Amino acid sequence: MVRKLSILITVFFFLVGCQKEGQAPLVTKGNDSFSNYEDHFLDALWKLSPDWATGVGYHKYDSLLNIPGDKSRNAMLNFIKLQQDSLARFEANDLTELNRMDYRILRNQLEYSNWQITVLKSYQWDPTHYSAIPAFAHILNEHYAPLTKRLRNFYQKMADMPAYYKEAQKQIKNPVPELTALAIEQQTGGINIIEKDFTDSLKKTAIPAAEQKLMTDRAKIAAESIRGYISFLQNLKSDKPRSFRLGKELYEDKFRYEIQSTYTAQQLFNMATERKKQVHKEMAKLSKQLWPKYFGKKAMPADSLDMISQVLDTLSAKHTTAAALQSTIESQLPKLAAFVKSKDLLTLDPGKPLLVRKNPAYFGSAAVASLSAPGPYDKNGNSYYNIVSLTGMPADKAESYLREYNNYTLQILSIHEGIPGHYAQLVYANKAPSLIKAIFGSGAMVEGWAVYGEQMMLDNGYDDSPEMKLMWYKWHLRSVCNSILDFNVHANNLSKEQAITFLTHEAFQQKAEAEGKWKRVGVSSVQLDSYYDGYKEIMDLREAYKTKMGDKYRLKEFNEKFLSYGNAPVKLIRTAMLGSK
Ligand code: ZN
Ligand code: ZN
Repeated sequence: MVRKLSILITVFFFLVGCQKEGQAPLVTKGNDSFSNYEDHFLDALWKLSPDWATGVGYHKYDSLLNIPGDKSRNAMLNFIKLQQDSLARFEANDLTELNRMDYRILRNQLEYSNWQITVLKSYQWDPTHYSAIPAFAHILNEHYAPLTKRLRNFYQKMADMPAYYKEAQKQIKNPVPELTALAIEQQTGGINIIEKDFTDSLKKTAIPAAEQKLMTDRAKIAAESIRGYISFLQNLKSDKPRSFRLGKELYEDKFRYEIQSTYTAQQLFNMATERKKQVHKEMAKLSKQLWPKYFGKKAMPADSLDMISQVLDTLSAKHTTAAALQSTIESQLPKLAAFVKSKDLLTLDPGKPLLVRKNPAYFGSAAVASLSAPGPYDKNGNSYYNIVSLTGMPADKAESYLREYNNYTLQILSIHEGIPGHYAQLVYANKAPSLIKAIFGSGAMVEGWAVYGEQMMLDNGYDDSPEMKLMWYKWHLRSVCNSILDFNVHANNLSKEQAITFLTHEAFQQKAEAEGKWKRVGVSSVQLDSYYDGYKEIMDLREAYKTKMGDKYRLKEFNEKFLSYGNAPVKLIRTAMLGSK
C-alpha cells in the first residue's frame, strides 16, 4: 500500500478547477479551442481508464472494470496516437502561458504512456499492475454519493473480476519477486474489502433481500478470483527472475518523463552527493557546539558522524506521548499559521480547514503521516492530515516512532504536511483553473514545495535554536539521501547491506526506518527523487527570480506567484516566471 498511497497522495489527490460543460465546438486553433480540446481529452481518457477516473473523483464510469490485455493496450495506443495528432494541430507559442503549460504537460504524459506500454512493459513483470482493489476501496469508503448507489456500482464493477484476473495471469511473465510479494500482500488485504466490508455495508441499506443475495454471491465469486490470482503468484517458479533494479537506461527515461526536471538523474545524483557532504559539515559544527550542554566534559567521539549521531540520539528523547500525539499536532497548526502570517511568507485562506485524523484502516500500517486532499473533480471534499495511531501499538514500537517524530521533527512534519507545506499548497492549487495541472500534477513540484517550506520556515526564524537546526538537517538529509539511494540501487547496483549501512551511518536513520526504505526502493523507482529534485529546482528558481527582480524581489510575492500555477512541473513554472519561452 505504501507505493500506491504515495502515488495517490503526491500525484492524484490534488484538486482543481471546474469542468466546462456544454460549450459549442470552436473552429479556431486558439485558446478557447484548446480548453475545449482538454475536456474531450479527459473524458476520452476516463472511458479508457475507469479506475483512474474513480480515483480522481470522476464517477461517471464507476461501474466499469477495464479488462487488461492486448485489446485494452491497443485501445490506449490508439488514443495516444489520436491525441498526439490533435495536439500537433496547436501552435504552442500562440497559447496563453497557462495553456502552454498544459500543452507541454499533455505532450509529456502521452509520450510517457506510450513508453510505459512499448518500452517499460511493467504489465509483464509487475504483478501489482493488476490492482483493481483501490478503486473498489474508493467507491466503498468515499462518501461522494448515497451508499446504495455506490454499492450498486461496486456490484456491477465486480462482474468482470474473474475475467480480469484470468487475463492478468496470461500477461505475467517472469515477474520481479519483490513486486510479486507486494502484490500478494495487497491482494490479500483486498479480499476483505470485497467480501467483508462490502457485505457489511449492504446491511446498512434498504436494498431488498433478494438483490442483496445476488450481490453477496457475486462478491464471493470475485473474492475467489482474487484468491486464484494469489495462488497463481505464490506458485510461480523462475530460475532467473527479473531484478527489481531498473537499470541506468530505463531509469533515466523514467526520470525524464516522471520528474520532468531541468536535470538528468545522473546530475541530480551528483548534486545530492555534494549536498550530503555540506549537510554533514553543518551538522558536525552544530553537534560540536551542543556537545558540552548535553554531555558535559565527556570526550567527543573522534568520528564526526558518530558524534552527530550521539547528539541526535539524545535530542530524540524529547518527545510527546502516544496518547497526546494527535492533540500535539492539532495545537501546532494555529501556531504555524500565525508564524507564516507574522513573517508575511504567504497569504493563507482560513476558509478551508485542515482536519487531523488517525490513519483510516484501509491505509494499512505502513504510512506514518500523509495529507489527503480532495480529488480534482471533488473540490468540496475535506483535507485531512492523517497520522498513524500509536495507542495500542507495542510500547517499543511506539517509542521508536515517538523518537523519530520527537519535539523537533514533529514540528517539521507539520510544516511539511500542513503549513506552509502540502495543505497550504493545495489551497493555492485549488484556485488554479486547470484540471490538467491537477490530474497530471508534478509529484516533484508538490514534494519539492513541502521540503522547501521546511527550510523557509527555519530561515525566517521559526526556531533558531541549534537543536532545531540540527534536527532539521537530519530531516532534510532524508530527502537528499532518498535521491542518492534510489539512483544507486536502480542504476548502480547498490546491495542491501550497503544501502542499510548508508542510511543508518550517513543519514542517521534507525535500523527499522532504513529497512522500510530498502523495502520501498525495491518496489518503486524514481518517486524517491521527487523530494530533493523539487526542492533543488525551487531553490534554483528563487535565486534566478531574485536576480531578475532586483530591488523589487519579495519572498511572499515569489511564493504566491510560484503556487499560482497549480501543480505544474517546476521546470515549466520556471519558464513562466522568468519570462522565456
Ligand atoms: Zn522516549
Ligand atoms: Zn510530502
